[in-house]
Amino acid sequence: MLAMRKKKEGSKTRACAACGQPRSFEELVRLVRAPDGTIAVDWRRNLGGRGANVCLSRTCLERAFSKKLLSRAFKDWVDYPPLERLVDDIDQASRRQLGTLARSGSGARLVLAGNDAVLAGLSRKDVSGLLLARDFSSLERFEQIARDEKLDYRVFWDKEKLGVLFGRRPTGVLGISGSQLVNSIFRVVDRLCRLDEGLTS
Ligand SMILES: [Zn+2]
Repeated sequence: MLAMRKKKEGSKTRACAACGQPRSFEELVRLVRAPDGTIAVDWRRNLGGRGANVCLSRTCLERAFSKKLLSRAFKDWVDYPPLERLVDDIDQASRRQLGTLARSGSGARLVLAGNDAVLAGLSRKDVSGLLLARDFSSLERFEQIARDEKLDYRVFWDKEKLGVLFGRRPTGVLGISGSQLVNSIFRVVDRLCRLDEGLTS
C-alpha cells in the first residue's frame, strides 16, 4: 500500500486550469480561494478548500485571469487581484526560497564559488551541479565541462545577483554538492526562468 502510494507521488500531474495540459507539480502553481474570495498561492500544496492549478507561465496565468477561469475551478466567485501582483508574489516567494537554499548550502559548505574552487571540487568529484551566470567570461568553457562531466547545470542571472544570493562577491560559477540540493535549487531556478520568459514574451 505504502509502496503504491510512493510510486504514484513521483508521477503526479494536474491539468492546468487555463490550457488544460497535464503538468507536473514543478510546472504549476496551486492557487486557492480564501474564504473572503481573495486568491492565495498554496506553495506547500496543503491548504484546504478548492484549488486551481495553473502553469507557471505568463500566458496561462493571464488567460486564467482574463477569462475568469478560476471562478469555474473554485465553483465560486473570486476577487481577482491585478495579475502583476500575483506574478510578483510568485517571484518574491521563489527568490526567498532560493535564498534559504543558498544560505543552508553555503553554511554546510556544499557550495563552491569561483573558477578555482569549482575546478578543484570537480577534480575531487565533489560537484553535482553548476550554476553559471549569463555574464560569466568563461561561460562556454564551463558549459563544456558540465557536458563532458555529465553534470546538470543552469545559466541563470548575472554574476552580481548570483554572488549576493550566496552571500559572496560577484561570482560567475557556483559548484553545488549533493544531488538533493542541486535538485531543490534547480527546481526554483527553473520556476523563476519560466516566469521570466513569460514576462518578456
Ligand atoms: Zn497552462
